[in-house]
Amino acid sequence: MDAILMMDNLFGTIHSSLSDIIETAPVGFRSDNRFLNCVVEYQLKGTGPGDTEKNCLSVLDSCMNIERSLGRKNSGPLFDSYGTRIYKDRPIDIDILFYGDAVINNSRLTVPHPRMSEREFVMKPLSEIAGGFIMSAFPELFESK
Ligand code: ADP
Ligand code: MG
Repeated sequence: MDAILMMDNLFGTIHSSLSDIIETAPVGFRSDNRFLNCVVEYQLKGTGPGDTEKNCLSVLDSCMNIERSLGRKNSGPLFDSYGTRIYKDRPIDIDILFYGDAVINNSRLTVPHPRMSEREFVMKPLSEIAGGFIMSAFPELFESK
């Protein structure tokens, strides 16, 4: 909830929808800690249609600032020497699932978020609040459930 209030502040607007918060076990690593997952939606004003990528990167910067101020440390490499993604305990993880109907692929940002459709803890809360706009822009992400 702290992160959502901080996002409301930084984005200068109150979130437009919020899913239920679900408690889940860690995926991809072992830990006794549990995670609280939810999906939140914002209606953000862009600065112009040509600036989608830049605007989304600035949203990512804001999210990473919030993660840092909630005690998330930059903790070592993201991949091991075999190229397998390393997942660790963290106090907070804010991911950008969608940015309107934008498709973004650069070194810092992949949108829609590439791993969400495999993650029940994302898809369940997402399906509560995903509007027709997102579902018809990316129907393949909502199939086979
Ligand atoms: P994950 O969210 O996959 O569990 P991390 O939060 O540790 O992993 O990933 C951090 C990096 O992922 C960030 O440095 C950011 O540049 C990159 N990233 C790429 N696409 C996205 C996205 N859609 N949302 C959030 N971070 C992203
Ligand atoms: Mg993340």
